[in-house]
Amino acid sequence: MILVLTPNIKPDSEAYEQLVAHLSRLQNIQWRVHQEQGTEQTLTEIYLIGNTAAISIDDMKSLPAVERVVRVSEEYRVLGRHRDDYRAAHFDYQGLRFGQDTLHVFAGLCAVDTPRNVEVMMKALSDNGQVCTRMGAYKPRTSPYSFQGHGKNCLPYVFDLAGKYGIKVIAMEITHESHIDEINEGLHATGNPTGIMLQIGTRNTQNFELLKIVGRQQDFPVLLKRGFGITLTESLHAAEYLASEGNRKVVFGLRGVKTNIADPHRNFSDFAHVPVVKRLTRMPVCIDPSHAIGLRSAGPEGILDIMHATAQGVIAGANMVLVDFHPEPASALVDGPQALMLSELQQFLEDVQIAHNAYLSREALAERYRNA
Ligand code: PEP
Ligand code: MN
Repeated sequence: MILVLTPNIKPDSEAYEQLVAHLSRLQNIQWRVHQEQGTEQTLTEIYLIGNTAAISIDDMKSLPAVERVVRVSEEYRVLGRHRDDYRAAHFDYQGLRFGQDTLHVFAGLCAVDTPRNVEVMMKALSDNGQVCTRMGAYKPRTSPYSFQGHGKNCLPYVFDLAGKYGIKVIAMEITHESHIDEINEGLHATGNPTGIMLQIGTRNTQNFELLKIVGRQQDFPVLLKRGFGITLTESLHAAEYLASEGNRKVVFGLRGVKTNIADPHRNFSDFAHVPVVKRLTRMPVCIDPSHAIGLRSAGPEGILDIMHATAQGVIAGANMVLVDFHPEPASALVDGPQALMLSELQQFLEDVQIAHNAYLSREALAERYRNA
């Protein structure tokens, strides 16, 4: 059960103290306070855990400082959608809104290789009005002998260049808690020119200790990729690990699942799950067509499979697109075969817009029939 308190309630106020005194008297109930600092107000929610079935909603509603009460089902307590649950399905970061009703493209390098390539990439994004990107500094690789990413050494120039080209958010995978400190230090040293969305990759979806640590910080939102070989439910529980530790600025990423039935694609696209994740949870949903498809083949009309898959996810209501580009795919140190070329960026963005407009039309059509 969640008690949503009146906005901007102060912990030293009389109403809050009365509420706490009342909660302390409840038998077999533990509770945890969650505070969310928004741009306009601070929201406080109290999560009651234990035998909440015995508590009446009306009793809770009548307590001081309580504005609303939500009875949650067992699954995805924080991030899930529950009955009479009007909690927000969005969060704000770096002046941008990430919600189930917004769309952002994060085109960029799978792995940072040279300062020149970072600059050429960011300039192309800025020329096309883009303010988000992806830049891999810490790469989890199948072979220990493959390039592992430049790590913290590339952060100063990546952040400086992001500032130079007006990039507001960089999606960056981390594979260890120490990377959060390195990113914080790098941002501090360069004067905080940009924001970071921490990415948890598919290999770490169920690295529960990493999830808990990332969930305990609220500086950065998190993009959690679904696990490549586990059920959707298991991956959604993984997202809940982040939120249950305090960070609910979580975007859920679909990136295909591993099966040789996907052949010739790298993974089997799961973008039909976009509406499922939006129905079950309040998370914005990201699609990663690059890691789903994994190669640059095209249909007979000349549209790349990666662009087709992107359109399929966006027309189904995806809120974020993570996609690999590279100034010179043949020389990319990681995932060159799936990187789009900068000459394809404008077409890619226009194609996304076509699919997005189609989604908006479909949404309006559904609304019309619902009200008919
Ligand atoms: C990536 O986005 O660079 C990546 C490694 O993705 P995934 O974890 O989905 O394989
Ligand atoms: Mn990759």
